[in-house]
Amino acid sequence: MAVQSNRMYNSFDTIVIGAGIQGSYTAYHLCQNNKTLLIDQFTLPHSRGSSHGQTRIIRKSYFKAYYTQMMTECYQLWKQLETEANVELFRQTGLLVLGKEGNPEFQTMKSTLVENKIPMESLTYEEFSRRFPLVNLPEEESAVLDKSAGILYADRALRTLQDLFQRLGGTICDGEEVVDIHPGSLVTVTTTAGTYRAKSLVITAGPWTNKLLNHLGLQLPLKTLRIVVCYWKEKVPGTYGIHKGFPCFIRISDSGQHHIYGLPSNEYPGLMKVCYHSGSDVDPDERDIIFQQPLEDVNLLSNFLSKEFPGLDPKPAIVEYCMYTVTPDQDFILDHHPEHRNIVIGAGFSGHGFKLAPVVGKILCELSTGKKPSYDLSPFKMLRFQSNLKSLL
Ligand SMILES: Cc1cc2nc3c(=O)[nH]c(=O)nc-3n(C[C@H](O)[C@H](O)[C@H](O)COP(=O)(O)OP(=O)(O)OC[C@H]3O[C@@H](n4cnc5c(N)ncnc54)[C@H](O)[C@@H]3O)c2cc1C
Repeated sequence: MAVQSNRMYNSFDTIVIGAGIQGSYTAYHLCQNNKTLLIDQFTLPHSRGSSHGQTRIIRKSYFKAYYTQMMTECYQLWKQLETEANVELFRQTGLLVLGKEGNPEFQTMKSTLVENKIPMESLTYEEFSRRFPLVNLPEEESAVLDKSAGILYADRALRTLQDLFQRLGGTICDGEEVVDIHPGSLVTVTTTAGTYRAKSLVITAGPWTNKLLNHLGLQLPLKTLRIVVCYWKEKVPGTYGIHKGFPCFIRISDSGQHHIYGLPSNEYPGLMKVCYHSGSDVDPDERDIIFQQPLEDVNLLSNFLSKEFPGLDPKPAIVEYCMYTVTPDQDFILDHHPEHRNIVIGAGFSGHGFKLAPVVGKILCELSTGKKPSYDLSPFKMLRFQSNLKSLL
């Protein structure tokens, strides 16, 4: 990444802190009409936050209908970005949603797909076994295929946005940690390398959000989780491969456990990515310090795969780390700072924010430029956590 550090012009319309997918998409929307600065603490690209890695699932199947509705525009904006940059960012694979008929989340995901007229198929146990002979679906479960779903090429998307942002006149200062923020009609942001001022500030700092909000007297009810990203070897290379038309999947779990999800083998030849949708609490600056092998998550995945994916070696071939920043209800926070309206916060993407970044970025851009937001933001307001918002003022 070419670092463009133009200290002579340290005044901007908007500063965005955090060049993960949310900050980069926000900056890209902003720079169409604004003089925008995007700051990141690490030299770009980096793998220390939540947006790195080659792939993410994109889908319209959600059990909260407002995400399904936002996804319509997300698909259009991802497509627009592909066209503008002339790169492939999306690959349609379909997504199997697996679960018990009696599970309310499974039922709602299914009905949301039907109500929103998303192309889908309901598969009985028999149909499923015929179509996917190398997955042992438990007899009490059934499957829905969200045909519009697929894979987003994550690292490539991030690079594309940051390149376009710079081509459109935006400034990136990477390798600069923000160490202080001073609110006011002009917000002052101090980094390890300089001081910048802007009419508005957007904070998209992922797992570091609360560390930054300390400077602004606010703490959000966010938890940072270390996610173990496991890749599993196909006994016969290509068995669950993207080239063989194998889809992504989400297994809706019962009994208080979290979901398991997987992507067809693609990014590392012969290896399928299958992960557990939760992890253990971690300080984001200590994500990669592993004192003890996180056996619990890996064992859970191993057991699942040995029963249901007999074509995979149930011992992970590669283990990597990533982070979720989760809110108590797993809904995002997209809102103004309660006391400083020209400071906008996008946080708590709860392990499902990548696909929604085009619309998240649009909303954060609208909030920071005083425009009416295009979506009903009531599910994303901080006030829903009034009892556990900490004001440090
Ligand atoms: C294993 C895994 C799988 C996932 N799968 C999916 C999926 O299939 N589909 C999906 O939609 N989503 C998925 N997600 C979620 C998605 O990746 C995240 O919601 C998204 O990447 C969050 O992006 P972000 O920009 O908020 O955070 P980040 O990417 O963490 O970006 C925050 C940035 O802020 C910077 N920063 C922080 N503090 C400072 C500071 N003081 N000064 C300067 N810079 C600072 C950081 O360096 C970082 O670059 C997954 C996440 C993980 C971990």
